Amino acid sequence: MDLTKLTITQAKQGLKNKEFSATELTEVFLAQIEKREKDMHAYLTVTDDLALAQAEKIDEKIAAGEEIGDLAGIPCAIKDIILLEGIKCTAGSKILENYIAPYDATVIQKLKKAGAIFLGKTNMDEFAMGSSTENSAFGPTRNPRDLQRVPGGSSGGSAAAVAAEECVFSLGSDTGGSIRQPASFCGVVGLKPTYGAVSRYGLMAMASSLDQIGPFAKNVADCKKVFDVIKGKDLKDSTSADFPQTTNYKLQTTNLKIGLPKEYFSQGIDPEVEKLVKQAIKKLADAGAEVKEINLPHTEYALACYYIIMPSEVSANLARYDGIKYGTSAISDKRFATSDLLDVYLKTRGHYFGAEPRRRIMLGTYTLSAGYYDAYYLKAQKVRTKVLQDFQKAFEQVDVILTPTSPTPAFKIGEKVDDPIKMYLSDIYTVPINLAGVPALSLSCGKIGNLPVGLQIIGKHFSEDLIFQVAGMCEELLRRP
Ligand code: GLN
Repeated sequence: MDLTKLTITQAKQGLKNKEFSATELTEVFLAQIEKREKDMHAYLTVTDDLALAQAEKIDEKIAAGEEIGDLAGIPCAIKDIILLEGIKCTAGSKILENYIAPYDATVIQKLKKAGAIFLGKTNMDEFAMGSSTENSAFGPTRNPRDLQRVPGGSSGGSAAAVAAEECVFSLGSDTGGSIRQPASFCGVVGLKPTYGAVSRYGLMAMASSLDQIGPFAKNVADCKKVFDVIKGKDLKDSTSADFPQTTNYKLQTTNLKIGLPKEYFSQGIDPEVEKLVKQAIKKLADAGAEVKEINLPHTEYALACYYIIMPSEVSANLARYDGIKYGTSAISDKRFATSDLLDVYLKTRGHYFGAEPRRRIMLGTYTLSAGYYDAYYLKAQKVRTKVLQDFQKAFEQVDVILTPTSPTPAFKIGEKVDDPIKMYLSDIYTVPINLAGVPALSLSCGKIGNLPVGLQIIGKHFSEDLIFQVAGMCEELLRRP
């Protein structure tokens, strides 16, 4: 039996039946990492000592017949922007190259409590800015489905690690598509939860009104299991909310109303992507779901709006990396030999931030500056409200909205890296969801050659359970010939 192929449910069953121990399972994954990482570079840090120590504890509990948590003994990987106490946390940046996390993020505390095993920290675009992991200061991750291609980003390492069977599940963060787009490129399931559904305490902030943590998994049921562990209100994150009690009703295709936004099936979409997404939707329609065309009229402004709001927040959030408070500093860099305060700031930020964070800090500083604030930031906030209202109106008519996750499958390494606008366009279908704060899941609906294509399922705020049910139906229907 190849243990790296197991889902959470299967691995739990095997542990319970004593077919293998948590230590054996962990060792198999560490060996797989050893084998695959030369090609993949999905991990920035592998925490083998921690993983084996955790596994031993779980094995002791199982041997003693003690109650074990929902994810007990299940090996996972964490995006390197979420703090895991005592372990390096770089955010993919030189400026945090040697930064050690001083405490556990709330999601980590929850995973620890549930018994999950941490295999390591995954590669990402610097400070989560990018769509390919090529903006990582430590080199790109490769797509396990085709090593010449990107895994998507910014949580590319987390998506690739699940796809390459280098962990059972992983966590990423999504500010404009960073969970869903890499899930789509790597052919795994990824959820961007409702804004506020998961605590962000211990997540390094990129754009605070948009950021959410969410899971990657091999299938919908696993994704739900992880989400159920990490969701919920946290006093340490005032934007987090109690997840409403979910009704236990069982959805049926025959009473499901699906909306297809006209604006998402227009120019710019790869015809093969469109075909596969429409085929999946047809299967739902054939099974009795009502499918109707809807309008999200402000879609065309969403990307522009995002590229005002996001950099504005980035410029404020990244101000803390100044070479004084923590992280890499020009003071201790012999090349600069400086102790002048302003010079320390300039040299630190000028040298240890990569091009993309610097570009966004400059853009955001501009859009927030006196005289321009009203013209850009305030205007963008008004547009954001319009985008949200589009979704609210749509959800008066339909239960879920289905779209492609990204207009194309995974592109080649190097293909878009010199053209920021082209890169930004790969998030055209994911960004509006973050602006509206609603949840969305990406699941594979087929392949072009070897390259997976993602179907995005969007629901209203806190409708994750409904999304999981629809995603489960799609998974089932797509499995049939
Ligand atoms: N690719 C988008 C960007 O570069 C989204 C990133 C993200 O969701 N963290 O901003």
